[in-house]
Amino acid sequence: MKKKLKIKKQAKKKLIIFILIIIISVGGFKLFNDYLYRQTYEYKLLQINYSLNEIKIIEEEFNDKQIDTLLTKEYNPNLTKIISDKYFIYNNLNRYLNYYNENKDIDLNKVISLINVNRDNAFYEKPIKTNYKDEKLMLVNKYYYLDKDYEPENIITTTGTYSYANNSLNEETYNAYQELYNAAKIDGHTILIVSSYRNFEYQEELWNERKELYGTRKADEYAARAGHSEHQTGYAVDVADFYDVNDKFGDTESYIWMKENAHKYGFILRYPKDKEDITGYSYEPWHYRYVGKEIANKIYQENITFDEYYAYYLDKEVN
Ligand SMILES: [Zn+2]
Repeated sequence: MKKKLKIKKQAKKKLIIFILIIIISVGGFKLFNDYLYRQTYEYKLLQINYSLNEIKIIEEEFNDKQIDTLLTKEYNPNLTKIISDKYFIYNNLNRYLNYYNENKDIDLNKVISLINVNRDNAFYEKPIKTNYKDEKLMLVNKYYYLDKDYEPENIITTTGTYSYANNSLNEETYNAYQELYNAAKIDGHTILIVSSYRNFEYQEELWNERKELYGTRKADEYAARAGHSEHQTGYAVDVADFYDVNDKFGDTESYIWMKENAHKYGFILRYPKDKEDITGYSYEPWHYRYVGKEIANKIYQENITFDEYYAYYLDKEVN
């Protein structure tokens, strides 16, 4: 009887020890787990007030190094809206935030477009020499320029069928234009090249003429300064309707045809309506840039300008 009691007592003791071990292990395990959790980005980001939803976006879009940098900064309620934008470029992050701070009436996605095309810098202030490896995709605008003596390769003279006299342009562009011209013709439109390749000196004359007539501000609105004209690339054309040769190309049926079809032949409307703040140019329904079919198609589908395309798809890849 006594022996039995002793055995019972011993069993109880063992049980208590066993339970204690379990409690300590569980506690230790929990402490260890807490320690591990505190090392995670989720925990660290929560500490500076990002929500779980925002953290999910941050972890999707940022690499570790980028999150480490973010952790040194204060919470920003606009951050995840910015980084989930399709055209977000990491290197521009601080510029987006600064610009938005100073221009709160502008939509965030618009801010991203503007910064991507350098609109937080004044035109012609810090000119960048354009040097994209593929000539056809060189960006020339109020920020990017071509040297005075830059002359494109494969410039050929056009014939009377497709253009007015004294025009020349890049051969590939000209071939594509002939394809476009023939397709338009079948649909009942005769669209001719009015102006194409222009060298530096000629562009200089054009701009100076306008400057003398209207002053610098107006001249800049309607014409590029020498070195900054897309016409110097040899890949740009100004067109006109053969039966309606005036400044109103935008009012013609031919323009509607161009708007719907030019991209199929590799051309894009370079200075669209409602994109003046992005391109820095007034709407020019007559000015088209050749970029090849694939890219023209993409620009058309995404409804972006070449400036935006270049920043997001070409320049980002270089940097
Ligand atoms: Zn033009």
